[in-house]
Amino acid sequence: MEREITIALAGNPNSGKTTIFNNLTGARQHVGNYPGVTVEKKTGETRYKGYKINVVDLPGTYSLTAYSLDEIVARNFVINEKPDVVVDVIDSSNLERNLYLAVQLIELKAPLVFAFNMTDVAKSSGKKIDIKLLSELMGVPIVETIGHKKKGMSGLLDSVIKTVEKRENGKNVVVRYGEEIENEIEKIEKILISNKPLSDKFNLRWLAVKLLEQDREVIQEVKKKLGSSSEYSSIEKAVDDSIAHIKSILRDPPETIIADARYGFINGALQESYEEIHADKTTISDEIDKVITNRILGLPIFAILMWLMFQFVFTIGAYPMKWIDIGFGKLANLAESFIPEGLLQSFVVDGIIGGVGGVLTFTPNIMLLFICIAVLEDSGYMARAAFVTDRMMHKIGLHGKSFIPMLIGFGCTVPAYMAARTIENKRDRLVTMHVTTFMSCGARLPVYILLAGAFFPKYAGNVIFLIYVIGVLTMISMAKLLRSTRFKGEPSPFVMELPPYRIPTFKGVMIHMWERTRLYLKKAGTVILVISVVMWALFTFPIIGDNYSKDYKAEIESQNEAFKSGEVSKEDLEENIAAIKGDMAREEMSYTIASRAGHFIEPVFKPLGFDWKLTVTAMSGIAAKEVVVSTMGTLLSITEADEESGSFRDKLASEYNPLVGLSFMLFILLMFPCMAALTIFRMEAGMKEVLFQIGYTLMIAWVVSLIVYQIGKLIIYFI
Ligand code: GDP
Ligand code: MG
Repeated sequence: MEREITIALAGNPNSGKTTIFNNLTGARQHVGNYPGVTVEKKTGETRYKGYKINVVDLPGTYSLTAYSLDEIVARNFVINEKPDVVVDVIDSSNLERNLYLAVQLIELKAPLVFAFNMTDVAKSSGKKIDIKLLSELMGVPIVETIGHKKKGMSGLLDSVIKTVEKRENGKNVVVRYGEEIENEIEKIEKILISNKPLSDKFNLRWLAVKLLEQDREVIQEVKKKLGSSSEYSSIEKAVDDSIAHIKSILRDPPETIIADARYGFINGALQESYEEIHADKTTISDEIDKVITNRILGLPIFAILMWLMFQFVFTIGAYPMKWIDIGFGKLANLAESFIPEGLLQSFVVDGIIGGVGGVLTFTPNIMLLFICIAVLEDSGYMARAAFVTDRMMHKIGLHGKSFIPMLIGFGCTVPAYMAARTIENKRDRLVTMHVTTFMSCGARLPVYILLAGAFFPKYAGNVIFLIYVIGVLTMISMAKLLRSTRFKGEPSPFVMELPPYRIPTFKGVMIHMWERTRLYLKKAGTVILVISVVMWALFTFPIIGDNYSKDYKAEIESQNEAFKSGEVSKEDLEENIAAIKGDMAREEMSYTIASRAGHFIEPVFKPLGFDWKLTVTAMSGIAAKEVVVSTMGTLLSITEADEESGSFRDKLASEYNPLVGLSFMLFILLMFPCMAALTIFRMEAGMKEVLFQIGYTLMIAWVVSLIVYQIGKLIIYFI
């Protein structure tokens, strides 16, 4: 039985629509008008492979923005008549401009086939199009045609039929308009979804976009569909708010931003699949891109910018960090002077003030980093950075957008996880987050400095560099491994949008920065505080009370006596008392749950060369990597004076051998990040992924340390 289908030919004027229409329909044509308007409507028919195909020639348009009657007619035909397939006839010698209409048809979610016409012209002017890749990026089948030579017509019809029979199911490509617009789209969609008449008829994302664009036709249509004006006014208010918000941040109205994003999408797709994109027109953006996305210059430029960013964030950030540190130190002193020594004082000073301080010390870095990211994003460079690093990242199964979070990971894992948000595909995002952990964060550095200095004094710099390299190598192998197991599959090909460059607005940058910082403070802050109190409790209870093994007070007393009788000098007295107090603190700590747990799980870490003290020290890294050094100090009875004189190193070197030091550094490098980062991880990816992160990084850390320690021992044994 013959099936009947309708196809509509859309396309820019002079793209060869009428030529193709004539090729397909021959003499069987009718000319009339679209109902109610004086726009000419040509229809015809053809028979092909058991189908009767009605062909409608839509008015030629450059866009579907409803600026002209032609555009409205073409758009309404697609929306209301729902043709089985829309064939967009594209002048492939003038791709960028022609694809603007194509992108809007993609947005309309019409079933599409692209006829890349005028391929003879494109070829003879030396343009190369990777049709297969472009088709994949756009999610639409593409057929090459030469209209006036009737070439490609049966291919075109085959593709049409495949699309009707859903054998060539175009991938669901979504054009994105940048975070700011996307947020507003989401808000408006939420309001629209409860309106049945609207959600029945329209694709809501499309409708939201059109409302943001203030499309007069669509607004009329929505008003008509809703009937009651009160319902419309709530939608109108939301839309107006969104438009005002966007204008205040990005300076331009949504219309402009959305149009730019469409061109960004097209530029990105063509950059990958098309050579000679700059042949016919060069804008300033194009000129800049020639340098910035250049194959040779692109990476060095990127590297320099990133280096500058790190300098900015971590050099300038060090000052406020120090102030916060000093401030909280003063606060702690103040609390100590008000609250009598004991449990309450320790709770307030170490638990609360320490915890809040821990949250706040990260904040300057986070704010500065987010300022940089906002500038990079708003200016349009971020998209180029992803583009430049894409090739490299593909080798490990990720793509360009994963690069930035990983890089930020060298500074701090907390903002790194937050930066991963720009990766739309969930699998790609999760892999990125799971491996970003191995990019050794800044808070781990003091541990390396101490240990490398203690055990490898002559080669400390090289050893620390080696640690970082091992981290990167682990990242690469784990990305590959995760990609081939739990997150199977190639990274999905997608268009890396290349929006035009813009000068970021101060307000926009500040708002972006503050939105993210607030999120960190609000969500991470509270959780970190709770965990830090819990950690404090673990390292405090049970309280030793009178169960000291020695009478330290008597020892201190006898030192004082000795000083009074002139047997010891004042200097010696202070040193001896500090040593006694150090031993006392160590005994207090070894009485706590944390230490007992350390003793209990020591056998697990024995093969890595850790004793219970190193085990407890590693455990304290769960709270924050910053406390690793101080916990180690307490457990080894290091006093402040020792720390300054460098005898901390001597003590370490005398207590452990270098192999243990190496094994321990690797463990700290590879184990999961601090609780602040894990809190963010949970926010972004859920508890299940956090547990996976903890489990698999512990495993890797354990195995790597084990191998290094055991093989190292063998080597030492044999030489
Ligand atoms: P429409 O405005 O989209 O309907 O375009 P037409 O079908 O009227 O075509 C415009 C001009 O392009 C005509 O002179 C056609 O002969 C010519 N044309 C159509 N297809 C091709 C093609 O593939 N290659 C070349 N070189 N010319 C073509
Ligand atoms: Mg025509």
